[in-house]
Amino acid sequence: EQRIEVSGLRKRFGATQALDGMSFTVSPGRVTGFVGPNGAGKSTTIRVILGLDTPDEGRALVGGVPYRRLRRPLRHVGALVDAAALQPSRTGRNHLLWLARSQRLPVRRIDEVIELVGLAGAARRKAGGFSLGMRQRLGIAAAMLGDPPVVILDEPFNGMDPEGIIWIRRFLRSLAAEGRVVLVSSHLMGELQGTADQVVVVGRGRVVADAPVDELVAAE
Ligand code: ADP
Ligand code: ADP
Repeated sequence: EQRIEVSGLRKRFGATQALDGMSFTVSPGRVTGFVGPNGAGKSTTIRVILGLDTPDEGRALVGGVPYRRLRRPLRHVGALVDAAALQPSRTGRNHLLWLARSQRLPVRRIDEVIELVGLAGAARRKAGGFSLGMRQRLGIAAAMLGDPPVVILDEPFNGMDPEGIIWIRRFLRSLAAEGRVVLVSSHLMGELQGTADQVVVVGRGRVVADAPVDELVAAE
């Protein structure tokens, strides 16, 4: 079965203990929020899950294996770690076309993912004029090209206008309803209230609470 399992991650950058025993599991069919203040270790954890960073201790598995062992990683895990880095003179659609070709992802899905992220009107314009919210949407479109069962979004609400926030909440719910594994980080609990089913709260490199969202709210 698909799930993300993070166990006992420790990671030091110089004098900074970025991860200090980070452990949690992300199950399919629900939205799991990954919440904590800036510097708590969310991005480092996500980078370790994606094989972009190596932990000093512990491990992260996706569907039972480390990301780097996945046979077709981009078909397995769709991730937004930074808003898409775009060439200003290239259209949003051409950016996706280039990604699909260079990473051998299905070109036939391009118009479908553009529609999915609500960029049907804008994707044929040059990306130089794109707002941060539009670049986030384009990054999410890129993540969905491989139709992955596991979706990881690092701070997708950043730079989103109110319409974008409403869109992303609905999008996250639909991913969970499709049975995918969904991990979404935010430094603001409020962004995930009413959207996340489960919330993993982190501080100083470790989990401080891991509970269904209604339990966390009731405990406040
Ligand atoms: P979050 O995503 O929760 O804001 P991060 O994982 O980005 O937290 O950072 C955790 C800690 O590790 C912070 O103190 C951050 O400054 C530090 N850190 C992260 N990446 C690096 C790096 N490449 N070099 C040095 N320090 C880093
Ligand atoms: P396949 O071609 O079998 O469908 P994938 O779609 O998973 O496999 O990967 C397509 C190509 O992208 C492969 O050549 C792979 O090495 C490369 N690739 C895998 N992971 C990444 C990544 N995180 N970033 C960039 N390229 C990647």
